[in-house]
Amino acid sequence: MSSSKSPVRVRFAPSPTGDLHVGNIRTALFDWAFARHTGGTFIFRIEDTDKERVTDQYIEAAAETLRWLGLDWDEGPGVGGEYGPYLQSERLDIYREWGEKFLQTKDAYHCYCSNEELEARREAAAKAHKAPGYDGACRELSDEMIEKYRSEGRKPVLRMRMPEGSTTFHDLIRGEVTFDHSFVPDFVLMRSDGSPLYTLAAAVDDVLMKITHILRGEDLLSSTPRQIRLYQAMGVAKESYPLFAHLPFVMGADNTKLSKRNGEVSIAWYRERGFLPEALCNYLALLGWSPGDDRENVSLEEIAALFEVERVNSSPARFDIKKLEAINGDKIRALTIDQFLERSLPFLIDGEVVSGNQDELVILKKALPLIQERIVTLSEVPQMLSFLFVGSLTLNEDSSKKISDPLSQEVLQASLTVLTNLKDWNLEEIEKALRSELLEKRELKPRLAFSPVRIAVTGSHISPPLFESLELLGKDRTIARISALIA
Ligand code: GLU
Ligand code: ZN
Repeated sequence: MSSSKSPVRVRFAPSPTGDLHVGNIRTALFDWAFARHTGGTFIFRIEDTDKERVTDQYIEAAAETLRWLGLDWDEGPGVGGEYGPYLQSERLDIYREWGEKFLQTKDAYHCYCSNEELEARREAAAKAHKAPGYDGACRELSDEMIEKYRSEGRKPVLRMRMPEGSTTFHDLIRGEVTFDHSFVPDFVLMRSDGSPLYTLAAAVDDVLMKITHILRGEDLLSSTPRQIRLYQAMGVAKESYPLFAHLPFVMGADNTKLSKRNGEVSIAWYRERGFLPEALCNYLALLGWSPGDDRENVSLEEIAALFEVERVNSSPARFDIKKLEAINGDKIRALTIDQFLERSLPFLIDGEVVSGNQDELVILKKALPLIQERIVTLSEVPQMLSFLFVGSLTLNEDSSKKISDPLSQEVLQASLTVLTNLKDWNLEEIEKALRSELLEKRELKPRLAFSPVRIAVTGSHISPPLFESLELLGKDRTIARISALIA
């Protein structure tokens, strides 16, 4: 079966009960790429029927995360579209009407069982080694029984009737999948207060929004036979059912399911640490999919151009932060200096290294090329460049100790003399002077020779290249910093 079913309409339908995570965004990215690849429509739908856990703040944060990543949607919050509203909390009447219809057609029925009764029967079934799940007790209630339950003040839930047999569908990633209904008991559609459950709301919306393809996490595989049952009850012809593609799990580096402990943290977390959106998209695209050759650097445009759902692997993908970091470094190196400046500036301002004025920007444009090859995330920029913007440095304990040993003191004294005597303060002269004084005359190893100077001038043994740093800092400040550390 082919995945071409035209015109393609795919949706990303999160329940934002917090900031979106790696797994959510991998799904969003594949949905987006599939829509863009096929020239279809990408729909962003918010599944917020659980109003207590899905807040406006999380909905806005989810939209902001998608925008930041460049995953633009054609229909959804803020954009509109002819199948709206796209917030399920604004569609409750629609679900209630469908629930009503299913009750009339007897596809669904009222179930009056209390939680305690259900629990007691579940335990008994487990003891008797019978299949778990609802036992169908309320399927054929007599009018007398209904009357009795009502008089007891019981409020029913609405339950879908699953016929005997099985459901088979073709999953675009895992092929033919069959569910025996003995493992798919009658399921709840609506709570006693008339609020819908996920299974009902998602299926109704997928039909009404004319969704053609459902790409979603493997954790939802087991809800598929229930949703197919709902399409059928809604009167959708079989050939019009959406096609399914269940994306493989993302595992942590330790091969257990991705969790907070092993990398499943919010996209906001990566953003705050200076990961670039193009690096996250690139890396997440490779979690279960490949562009067809062994390239590891792909742009969002290339992902859209190359994405084929059939090339998604069915086995679990492994999240590896080291690989994400490597890709992030590559993406940083690919930036122009203006782009690098624009991306770094918020980190420098947040870190109170600069305020963003013109003079600072001039210095930054000279300094940023020095570190572009050396950093992995943007959050390293402030610490690497702050020495250029502070009056005097405060050394940590290690550095202070290092700088006060006799050899360091000798190096600083010698450097101070040659640098003070320099007429032209430029890279070439600085390098020549320090090399001849420290390496040639004193025959020191470069690390021993330059480390004290580096610490004195930049405050750290990790810095941009030394001679360039001195040139940028200027003669006066260099001399002042070295002198200040000579005992
Ligand atoms: N709202 C569901 C979730 O966040 C996804 C629904 C779906 O893709 O079918 O897990
Ligand atoms: Zn019941």
